[in-house]
Amino acid sequence: MRVKFWGTRGSIPTPGRTTEKYGGNTSCVEVTHGGRRVILDGGTGIRELGIRMAGEEPSEVVILFSHCHWDHIQGLPFFVPFFKKGFRFRIAAPPHLSRRIKAILGKQMASEVFPVDFADLGSDISFKEMPASGVKVGPFRIRHFALNHPGGSAGYRIEAGGTSLVYATDHEFAPQDDPRTFDAFVRHLKGAHLYIADGQYVEKEYAERHGWGHSTVEHVVAAAKAARVLRLAVTHHDPMHDDPALTGFEHDAMKQHPGLEIFFAREGIAVEVRDTLRP
Ligand SMILES: [Zn+2]
Ligand SMILES: [Zn+2]
Repeated sequence: MRVKFWGTRGSIPTPGRTTEKYGGNTSCVEVTHGGRRVILDGGTGIRELGIRMAGEEPSEVVILFSHCHWDHIQGLPFFVPFFKKGFRFRIAAPPHLSRRIKAILGKQMASEVFPVDFADLGSDISFKEMPASGVKVGPFRIRHFALNHPGGSAGYRIEAGGTSLVYATDHEFAPQDDPRTFDAFVRHLKGAHLYIADGQYVEKEYAERHGWGHSTVEHVVAAAKAARVLRLAVTHHDPMHDDPALTGFEHDAMKQHPGLEIFFAREGIAVEVRDTLRP
């Protein structure tokens, strides 16, 4: 599987010179394998992906949403393939989200706030409830699991071509609560070759951000180690963290945890999911 980060920012877009290294667009990740494509979240990063896709032959694409907070859906009204005949989008979500998602995406394009109605988009868009056992789509085996976030959020484990990745953003570890919560999360993460994680804060900031629904870099490193993850990609960067701050946090994490391959996701980078560490 090949993973490309189109949006790495949490909460709100942060354009500008101080964020150009890690990126200012909100959550969007593209996963491709065997000529098929899965898109994770539709934050503002999906706009650039859409421009790329508009130059290709129309295809069938699966879109998975963690949840519907703005930073995960706000790019969709500007996602060009939604407007183009021939593209087919299968939006699959866990039951609690599936029942609401169509209405929420519609509201985001209501006439009071956007000139084109969701129902008038030219592509073929369908919604499907994903069972607890998961689904098989083309070469991808996809399962979902619940995350701890205000209003709920879903994590996804995707397997294809002998490798696995977990996308788990907008999740707050609550180590002060029941340790079984941590253990349950780690079970979903077990042995993943790539863990794309919400590391919005660092430890010293967290005391004032309990209950906001996000994790620290330290939390996701602990989970990655407990689950024996091969590689950790920290994303959903806090809007208050500029490039120098994120560079510092990334270097600290790499230095403090030499046994784990860690990187902070940057807008526009692509990585191959491998089952071995870099030689
Ligand atoms: Zn978010
Ligand atoms: Zn959220």
